Amino acid sequence: MSEERSLNFLEEIIEEDLKNGKYPHIVTRFPPEPNGYLHIGHASSICLNFGLTQKYPGYTNLRFDDTNPVTEETEYVDSIKEDVKWLGFEWKNERYASDYFDDLYGFALKLIDKNLAYVDDSSSEDMAAQKGTPTEPGTNSPFRDRSVEENRDLFIRMKNGEFPDGSRTLRAKIDMAHINMLMRDPILYRIKHAHHHRTGDKWCIYPMYDFAHGQSDAIEEVTHSICTLEFVPHRELYDWLIEKLGIYPSHQYEFARRNINYTVTSKRKLLQLVNEKHVSGWDDPRMPTISGLRRRGYTPESIREFCDRIGVAKRENRVDVGLLEFCVREHLNRIALRRMVVVDPLKVVITNYTQGEEMLQSENNPEDENGGLRDIPFSAELYIEREDFMENPPKKYFRLAPGQMVRLKSAYIIKCEEVVRGADGEITEVRCTYIPESKSGADTSGISVKGTLHWVSVKHAILAEIRLYDRLFRVEDPADEAGDFKEYLNPGSLQVLPAVYAEPALKDANLLERYQFIRKGYFVLDRDTVPGKLVFNKTVGLKDAWAKEAKKA
Ligand code: ATP
Ligand code: MG
Repeated sequence: MSEERSLNFLEEIIEEDLKNGKYPHIVTRFPPEPNGYLHIGHASSICLNFGLTQKYPGYTNLRFDDTNPVTEETEYVDSIKEDVKWLGFEWKNERYASDYFDDLYGFALKLIDKNLAYVDDSSSEDMAAQKGTPTEPGTNSPFRDRSVEENRDLFIRMKNGEFPDGSRTLRAKIDMAHINMLMRDPILYRIKHAHHHRTGDKWCIYPMYDFAHGQSDAIEEVTHSICTLEFVPHRELYDWLIEKLGIYPSHQYEFARRNINYTVTSKRKLLQLVNEKHVSGWDDPRMPTISGLRRRGYTPESIREFCDRIGVAKRENRVDVGLLEFCVREHLNRIALRRMVVVDPLKVVITNYTQGEEMLQSENNPEDENGGLRDIPFSAELYIEREDFMENPPKKYFRLAPGQMVRLKSAYIIKCEEVVRGADGEITEVRCTYIPESKSGADTSGISVKGTLHWVSVKHAILAEIRLYDRLFRVEDPADEAGDFKEYLNPGSLQVLPAVYAEPALKDANLLERYQFIRKGYFVLDRDTVPGKLVFNKTVGLKDAWAKEAKKA
């Protein structure tokens, strides 16, 4: 889909590693914490990790980073698997950090035996006080010089559940004066008597991120462990632990988080929106989650293209949501079935159309030569869009107006002869004549008109609900504003039109097809559809503000 681009910095590293034989193949992993649904930022990480092993020999594991028993749920595991598959990627192994709890426990004992870890009875306040500051060294814990035997005994008893939450920790013995604060005797294990979604009540001590991630990477022999920039200071600890344990030397590389504007991309914040019912759920079509985008009508191809275009960077920057919209619009233009839907109807009566009705045909998609045709019934009573008619039009108005002609899409040219008003003075009907020789595809009338309108036959139209979406937030970076980010929600982000008039071909609409409602935008069927009531979500409008920008670039 995209043009050739130069190698990103990770590809350069990998090509070098493969060329000089450092690795015969590469192993990457995508390591979500199952504490929420995946969002568009995660899509970047997925496309990067899986994309590298599609391009180079090797494979990618899906690893659930489930070391925190309190926030994790099986629902999230299932949704994450569904989303990765839907994006079009296949993992080699499905793994869980919790699968490694026994190994990690063994690693901890090994550090204790090497006198590189100790059990600390300090409270969290004491530990914070010992920590020092970036400019001042910390102070040693009074428990730092416990013997190996005592540490072993206490750690085993921590594991056996003899001590309450928070009463003790296991810490690495590194250097309380280290310039990297994370190297000042970091906590490796804490006590937490909590049920875990996979290991149940087997454990009451849980490893910290830094004592799980790199070790899991090493167990899986991950060659390139790619994470986001906030982990740069952790790399030193990552390397220290691997070296001291003498395990497989995985390497950590960092890239900039990818976030888009007018939304939030933090699972914790998205969870608040769900719990406080600002949205209908994780897959609300306004959400920046993969499941929300899917329900909104985004295609996996368009999301992959977006991730490819924004690429990999070492500096954070907020990506304009317009680029994401550009990518989906471009894809939908190629695949969407064209259909006609009238949102705000004005009745047109064709006074000289005496044959009652006929079946016309129109192409499903002018961008797709194999797209085929569909039937569209035509009759003497039609609906057009109210905004496509003007009684006193300005110059260069090419839509319908008294005495003016327009073409009805895939049908005939009509001419407005007369306006009919109701008791309140409002126009209720427009009377027209049609040109019988002007039928689309067989036009011998010699008349050329500038405007083409969409329409539906009154008798054949079916009713549908459409849901229109706007940005979820009013500001570019709600998390960066003063006060609660939820104060910046856009109150007009959802507009429901309960009854629009659709051409009958949409009766067969299904969840897999995409539609362009002509002159209106791209739409997809929503799962709220029930027999007798079609519901469509607007994916994106037709307007293409990004095209010019993208061409310039
Ligand atoms: P959140 O703050 O939304 O919970 P997280 O980083 O805690 O994000 P994880 O489940 O730990 O979420 O992330 C899994 C992987 O996805 C990690 O490697 C993480 O670095 C990456 N990732 C998360 N958010 C982004 C983002 N906005 N851009 C790029 N990669 C991301
Ligand atoms: Mg996380």
